Amino acid sequence: MTSADIKAKAQELGFDLCGIAPAVDHPELAFFADWVRRGYAASMRYLTDQVERRSDVRHVLPTARTVIMTATVYNTDRPYSTHCRESGRAHIARYAWGDDYHEVIGERLDRLLTWMREVSGEPFDARAYVDTGPVQERVYAQYAGLGWIGKNSCVINPELGSWLFLGEILCSLPLEIDEPSFDQCGTCTECLKACPTGALVAPGELDSNRCISYLTIEHRGELPAEMTPLLGTFVYGCDICQDVCPWNLTAAVSPDRPWQPRAAWDGRSVADFEAMSDEALQVALRKSPMKRTKLAGLRRNIAVARKNLTAKEQA
Ligand code: SF4
Ligand code: SF4
Repeated sequence: MTSADIKAKAQELGFDLCGIAPAVDHPELAFFADWVRRGYAASMRYLTDQVERRSDVRHVLPTARTVIMTATVYNTDRPYSTHCRESGRAHIARYAWGDDYHEVIGERLDRLLTWMREVSGEPFDARAYVDTGPVQERVYAQYAGLGWIGKNSCVINPELGSWLFLGEILCSLPLEIDEPSFDQCGTCTECLKACPTGALVAPGELDSNRCISYLTIEHRGELPAEMTPLLGTFVYGCDICQDVCPWNLTAAVSPDRPWQPRAAWDGRSVADFEAMSDEALQVALRKSPMKRTKLAGLRRNIAVARKNLTAKEQA
């Protein structure tokens, strides 16, 4: 079983990109501890409690020699939130429009791993993760040649853009590795200029305490009063720093059914969300990545969006 065989199978299973990084001590892995130390992980205990474990995949799988990285385009043909001029539109980050990627990508990775075990001439250790694993997947994605980590902290592929789900298999096999991607942000600073909350404190450095994505998805309880006026009508996540990226002007669009927007979320206004019953919201949240905020979190975000919309209309 060669690296080329694995990539061909990954493509057959619906992954748009597949590359292989070495499981070695990449210098960028050290930045994470520093980022956490500066408080930029905010209240995300799953990050702050696992600094050592997340510093190298060999803490998770000691025999790991390679990381098979995959990327899947989730962009659809709807306009970007920064292009929606309609007043009152409720914005949802596009990754959350369809089915829960943890489940869909997780199943595809399981199928890839099952196939690898069937065709490999030797036994091997492996572990598959999607997003929530203790893996700095963006660093490995860069070393697997999938794209570079942009100043907006997202992985950008020069052909496909940055609307990508990442998923990986840590593996003990000494597979042929890929050339790393190189930085193509150049002198551009569009994402830093566009971020409405100043969360991108430096190129590639995100202060979660100020990020709309963190506040509307991960933060529990009341939102900090000084931040709520800056959340606009984002009811779940924020895409602005990706919307404005020139590499997304011609980003790939996926026909993959799981990522197509659910009717309940598609082009909805703040008023539409307010009119939805708890039961209707619960049904729409089923098998959606948006279930992470739970109903109470979503209602909290809708209330903030209403307050901001009213303030805007009265200004
Ligand atoms: S997601 Fe939104 S708030 Fe967070 S860094 Fe990007 S533009 Fe800023
Ligand atoms: S907007 Fe510009 S600086 Fe920001 S990630 Fe895209 S190319 Fe890089």
